[in-house]
Amino acid sequence: MKSFDIIAFDADDTLWHSEDRFSAGEQHFVELVAPYAPEGVDVKAALTAVERKNLSVLGYGVKAFGLSAVEAAISITNGAVPVSVIEKLMDMVRAHLTEAVRLLPHVPEVLAHVGRHYPLALITKGDLIHQTHKVQTSGLEHHFAHVEILLEKDPDTYAKVFTRMGVAPDRVCMVGNSVRSDILPVMALGGTAVHVPYPLLWELEHVDHDEHFADLDSISLLPAWLGVA
Ligand SMILES: [Mg+2]
Repeated sequence: MKSFDIIAFDADDTLWHSEDRFSAGEQHFVELVAPYAPEGVDVKAALTAVERKNLSVLGYGVKAFGLSAVEAAISITNGAVPVSVIEKLMDMVRAHLTEAVRLLPHVPEVLAHVGRHYPLALITKGDLIHQTHKVQTSGLEHHFAHVEILLEKDPDTYAKVFTRMGVAPDRVCMVGNSVRSDILPVMALGGTAVHVPYPLLWELEHVDHDEHFADLDSISLLPAWLGVA
């Protein structure tokens, strides 16, 4: 059994589906807005550019996506987008915010199993209300000794979280789907990280790196990797 003081998990696209819904939302945005956009404009790329520009002001999550989508719809079409399209974008955001959590395969049994050997933490970033709602309705909350909802996942914020938890960074194992947010910042603090990729990755989460870390095809392989299978 590998020696750690805590096993921390990312949530979106690690414990439950998330990016598939954002990806469908982007596709829906393109279908709604493209008919009003000037010829030759890459509507999807323009939306991503607005999201990138707004990241430091709006942060992550569905509400940030919704505001960027409205701003992009207006700017891409030079104000020609009808109010009915803005209404449809708002409906899309509301539906996204209120939809039930869809757990990824094997997650409850893996958390129960690993939780018999280590304390567990959940560390996620994004909108406080939405993330809190997802945690509380996921049926998973009882597995975690700590739940942290952050604005950003960088070495500074992880260092503060680990201090709050009372664990040394080199005693932490972080499990997540995003190399940029879950793996590299934890490794930068001397921690261990396990990458469990999700089939989709948001463009703003892409990162170039030459680090080496464990890569598992499924979270179901985590107990064997930890030596507790
Ligand atoms: Mg994630």
